[in-house]
Amino acid sequence: MEQAVFESVRYSAVCQECGAELECWGTQALVDARLRWDVESTCSACGAAAAICGGDVPADRRDQMLSEHGPARLRVSSPSAEGVAIMRVLRAELGIDLISAKAVMRRVANGDYSGTLPEMEHLARKLRARGISAVATRP
Ligand SMILES: [Zn+2]
Repeated sequence: MEQAVFESVRYSAVCQECGAELECWGTQALVDARLRWDVESTCSACGAAAAICGGDVPADRRDQMLSEHGPARLRVSSPSAEGVAIMRVLRAELGIDLISAKAVMRRVANGDYSGTLPEMEHLARKLRARGISAVATRP
């Protein structure tokens, strides 16, 4: 059982109940080999609280995570020897075609492929499950 990896951001939105400022806490998590995005929110005025679980992380929250926590990089120890197997994992996990997988593969080989820590850790674990030595690192 591998440890869960979390990364959170705080942001505000507008309360659907009263229109005041809503304090939101979004968390991207890697739990049981799956990535998830959960949001908990509380209204500063009326106290309305909500929790929304599941779904994909919105692009602007992902950007906020990258700028507040910094990007993590995916590193593979022998990308040239494991190329085909790595591309197979990338295609399956990212839902991309062969041409895009080749481009991502080149970036991984150059140490130039990055994302949020839970995202990179997710790929690294999928690669390790296929016997490929991969790690997610943050400089
Ligand atoms: Zn409210």
